[in-house]
Amino acid sequence: MYGLSRMYYEMPDGTIKQVNPFTGTEVWTVPGRGKKPITNRPPATATKIERREPENYCNFCRSSYLNVPPEKARLVAKDGRYEILSNIETREYLNSVAEFRRVPNLFEIVTMDYWRLNHGYKLSVKNQQWKDRILSSTEGRDHVRRVIELKMRLSGKTEQEISTLSDKDIADHADAFFAGGHELVIGRRHYRDGAEYSSDLCSSGCLTAQEHFEYLRFTIAAMNDIYANNRYVRYVSVFQNWLAPAGASFDHLHKQLVAIDEWGASVETEVELARKNPNIYNEFVVNFAAYSNLVFAENDYAVALADIGHRYPTLAVYSKAANLRPWELTGEELWGFSCLVHACHAAMGNQIACNEEWYYAPRDALVKMPLHVLIKWRTNNPAGFEGGTKIYINPISPPDLRDMIVPRLYELRDHGHIGGLKIAEECPCEPNSLRYYLAKS
Ligand SMILES: [Zn+2]
Repeated sequence: MYGLSRMYYEMPDGTIKQVNPFTGTEVWTVPGRGKKPITNRPPATATKIERREPENYCNFCRSSYLNVPPEKARLVAKDGRYEILSNIETREYLNSVAEFRRVPNLFEIVTMDYWRLNHGYKLSVKNQQWKDRILSSTEGRDHVRRVIELKMRLSGKTEQEISTLSDKDIADHADAFFAGGHELVIGRRHYRDGAEYSSDLCSSGCLTAQEHFEYLRFTIAAMNDIYANNRYVRYVSVFQNWLAPAGASFDHLHKQLVAIDEWGASVETEVELARKNPNIYNEFVVNFAAYSNLVFAENDYAVALADIGHRYPTLAVYSKAANLRPWELTGEELWGFSCLVHACHAAMGNQIACNEEWYYAPRDALVKMPLHVLIKWRTNNPAGFEGGTKIYINPISPPDLRDMIVPRLYELRDHGHIGGLKIAEECPCEPNSLRYYLAKS
């Protein structure tokens, strides 16, 4: 662990050297690389689009409800209220409009066989009943068969291999759809309201604050359900890849949830450090950012800052709640947290490819960690210099990043698109504002 003074400093020529307190990643920002202001204007490569309702631009669009595996749940809006419909029948798909849908990922990172063969995992009673119900209807069976055939075709299987699949083969393959641990939460819109150009995609920041809150709440409900149906899961990794340079296969807003049987290296390292210094997230992140003028937004429940020591420009949002895990946050705490995550996405606009990564205390850890989200801009590519030296060049320094975000936040707040936050110098920046260390477990 570096001391605070070695973690972040500016050299006489303006080079900023940073070391991430959790990963040890060494990053330099060299002056004179020039920063471009954020714009939502269509780029030169954008083309005029034809608006179609229902949207049918990709497999996540509303017209393609049947192009993905059977839906686990959907969130619908009714008279201004949101309601979760779970395990609906295939024939009911078109009876409502899904604001968000929770569906299995066709190609799992951690597969059903991984759980089955390594842990002896079986379908829970609830999931088995749901599977039986779907496969007992003609529409359900046809849907499942079609998606499995699609998956096999994409995996390079021959038409002959596909045509010989028996009903039993289909039922066996289908376990991954009904009990797998890699899921997607897909938004309703492909393009944002009033879209004219191919670049007018509906990002997290194009949602309303309420929609964004419901998106997080629905994602958290999915995490809970994954834990409830697979007792071998030790961590559910949650992330969002926005646009192709960030690894997204479709330009259609979605989050991913991947259940794993360990905590993953990043969380393990954080747990170790937090065990040694229980106040590390205040001391090395939020207090430090406050003293360095890197906090750009705050409310009673969360704080947002330009984070240090990342190979990509990175915005961080930390929950201030004494409740640790996403599902332990009260409605108000989650609302406040969501407001800041939404504001970050809105401020950066919909044209910056990014990864949103969630970090939280594993449910089988006693150590206390606050819920936090990192939003990493995929605007630069580490090259040979980085590979050889392990010194990463991030073209946008944390203060530059803050200066790009802050004017956009004022503008968006003036227009009423974001709310529930204080901006830049308005932020109270009280020391030790993260209260996670007061948590009971
Ligand atoms: Zn789409």
